[in-house]
Amino acid sequence: MSKSNIIQELRAQKIPIYDNSSIKTFTWCPRGYFYRHELGLEPSTPRLNPGLHFGISGHLAMESWFSPDSYKDDQKALNIFVDNFHEYEEVAKIGARGKPLKTTHSIIFGCSLLEAYFNKYRNDERKVLSLENAYAEEITEDTYLVGKIDKLLETSRGLKFCDYKFTKYMNYLLNPNPQMCGYTFLVSKLTGEKVNGEVDIIGVSKSKNPNELLIRMPVEYSEFSLSLWKESVVEQIKSIERCRERGIWPQSWDCKPFFRDCDYLPLCTSSSKEVHDEMVSRLFVIKFWDPFGEE
Ligand code: SF4
Repeated sequence: MSKSNIIQELRAQKIPIYDNSSIKTFTWCPRGYFYRHELGLEPSTPRLNPGLHFGISGHLAMESWFSPDSYKDDQKALNIFVDNFHEYEEVAKIGARGKPLKTTHSIIFGCSLLEAYFNKYRNDERKVLSLENAYAEEITEDTYLVGKIDKLLETSRGLKFCDYKFTKYMNYLLNPNPQMCGYTFLVSKLTGEKVNGEVDIIGVSKSKNPNELLIRMPVEYSEFSLSLWKESVVEQIKSIERCRERGIWPQSWDCKPFFRDCDYLPLCTSSSKEVHDEMVSRLFVIKFWDPFGEE
């Protein structure tokens, strides 16, 4: 099934659905999963994250550039990037000589990166079948895996899914890669065909020329790799369900993911259940993860 409203229907019927992000949260820390996905807690004053919003705004610009209504309209895509990103632009630090230092997540850099992308791939005429579409397929009995795919293409070698990565890491790991295996599974199951993909790397680095930051990497998995991935996903889902049944969500103690304190540190270090519950209502809001942004 491929329509987002069908996915909302699954949720309304209380049919368990998981996506790569929620499963990865569980593998990082079951307690963190409990707070984020079972209770739906988000910090009431989120930390500014220019990198995250740089990527979100870049995705929106790409969606516009490839959509039939504004196909390859550079200016429209750039405007969308600027409108969505300007309030999150990184604030420049002042250097030893009293002058502002160059920032990575800036509007100027974002626009030059997007312009380099548009110029490099302007002649790519592969047919775009869908943009930002959500897919759900049964991964194990009565349990669905969902994923939102940036772009689905029709190519001379068959269907291809495409995922943009605005990233500092040019050596992006493709195998094993649960997100890309998940997309392969979803589109292959939907179409009944063996499907491959492409990761469209849009590197984020202030020390390189934007043209050096654009790489398209083919994604293709063997049946064996996919079976290992599927087995792992199903086992992780079973572990989540076991935690839910027992009401026990173990801590992983990996409390500085990406070198920053975990959002739930105040809860995991509270002195009593009463203090814990008071902090839940004072420091957090309930906003359940929505991989489709349509609720
Ligand atoms: S503070 Fe540490 S143990 Fe607690 S949820 Fe975060 S990562 Fe897990």
